[in-house]
Amino acid sequence: MFIIDMVGSALQSLAQYYEWTILGGIWCFFMFFWFVIWIIIAIWVYRDAESRGMNGALWLIVVIILGIVGLIIYLLVRAGEKGKKEEIKRICPQCGRVIKEDVKYCPNCGKELE
Ligand SMILES: [Zn+2]
Repeated sequence: MFIIDMVGSALQSLAQYYEWTILGGIWCFFMFFWFVIWIIIAIWVYRDAESRGMNGALWLIVVIILGIVGLIIYLLVRAGEKGKKEEIKRICPQCGRVIKEDVKYCPNCGKELE
């Protein structure tokens, strides 16, 4: 009876061990998956910020440190920057050069602007 008890408890602990291993495996996989997604997001933020003339490295750090909150802040700032950028962009009707919104004369050809 003693041996059967021993084998029984050994099998039980073995089963528990495998259970934990599987759970640990799922957990590791989940963490790894989340980690990969987060890297992709961070790279996207960096590239997106750089393409908009913003500080990519700074936003990368913000997103890594603040996590999802940092990402939300970035998306809000990004939306604001987009509106500002479209406002600034203006094309001279005479020479076709992109100029600032607030100038009265085109710096390239000198045409008076409204
Ligand atoms: Zn011009």
